Amino acid sequence: MKPLRQLFLEHVGQTSANPLAVEIERAEGIYLYGPDGKRYTDLISGVSVSNVGHGNPQVVEAVCAQARKYMHLMVYGELVESPQVLYARRIVAHLPDSLQSVYFVNSGSEAVEGALKLAKRATGRTQLIGFENAYHGSTHGALSVMGGEYFRAAFRPLLPDVGQIRFNCLQDLEQITERTAGVIIEPMQGEAGIVTADASYLKALRDRCTETGALLIFDEIQTGFGRTGYWFAFQKLGVVPDILVLAKSLGGGMPLGAFISSRERMSVLQTDPPLGHITTFGGHPVSCAAGLAALEFLESSGLVEQAEQKGALFESLLCGHPCIREIRRCGLILGVEIGNENTVQRLIRDFVHKGLLPDTFLWRETAFRIAPPLIIREAEIRETAEVILACLDRLA
Ligand code: PLP
Repeated sequence: MKPLRQLFLEHVGQTSANPLAVEIERAEGIYLYGPDGKRYTDLISGVSVSNVGHGNPQVVEAVCAQARKYMHLMVYGELVESPQVLYARRIVAHLPDSLQSVYFVNSGSEAVEGALKLAKRATGRTQLIGFENAYHGSTHGALSVMGGEYFRAAFRPLLPDVGQIRFNCLQDLEQITERTAGVIIEPMQGEAGIVTADASYLKALRDRCTETGALLIFDEIQTGFGRTGYWFAFQKLGVVPDILVLAKSLGGGMPLGAFISSRERMSVLQTDPPLGHITTFGGHPVSCAAGLAALEFLESSGLVEQAEQKGALFESLLCGHPCIREIRRCGLILGVEIGNENTVQRLIRDFVHKGLLPDTFLWRETAFRIAPPLIIREAEIRETAEVILACLDRLA
């Protein structure tokens, strides 16, 4: 047989010209291991997925137990499947009264689609507004509302009646009007390189949406489940959305997404037409069982509360290095600004060589990202920071 890496490039559909293409045989805790036994520290968590670490015993046990009971039974929403019900109940215990109805789907992009459709149906309006430098996924609807014309242009026509406004810009809020069905925002823009909305701006956005009747949608796909030091970023920023979109760490390492709103609002998808959103695998029982186990682990471990302090430690160990221009941070997710795309590419290769797996950003090629599993310990943060600093030293 040809080497696995070669078969990967030949037969696994590629949309990146330069995939990392590092072969991984197994993963445990914050580490990934290659077939030669080489250990990599996970500094990306599958892009904010593996918050509770790889191979978390509680999650693995829940997956195996559920797989033994049943896997797929029926399209979403017909049968009473306990993993969905119990997980939804446990999630909404962390949410306000206006966010108590959870519609589970397969992925982040599908959750965004569901949220946009719900906003249109609930308001009877058509206009959607997104933000410059936003990322919401790869489906046509998600592409329509995200930033980055370069990534959208080749797929036009996309959704009509979509506006785009500047992040943290009060002046642009005027573009939200009585015609607007929904405004979708990441309270912390991940792919922009970790740019957090000002709390005062979000409050003004909330007021503008309430005033015009537009629904405010928060995409918390990257920020959910403790990454920011709160269960959800909206709690940190003090503004409650009308629709909350989750995915990534929601499934505890299994594929799962959700859009969440009030029961009353969600009910509009039941009529004219009925089945306003249908999904075969949405809320897969094994994914929900994994998500529930991960949530219970987070609840009992205190990791959510520790994320801010761990992120601050990382920041304090790195800041001051002459190659770092700026560190943007929100809890335990950091964007380390180097200021030069080629240098970042060189650094990433050096990191991998030294056994670290970080990532770059879609819209900010001049920075790299640090978002380890939340279970990372202080000594591991110190050890990792030393390796990063040594790689930065070699740039000089
Ligand atoms: N929204 C945000 C903020 C994301 O980071 C992503 C994925 O990276 C998505 C939406 C799309 O999620 P998925 O890749 O599961 O479709």
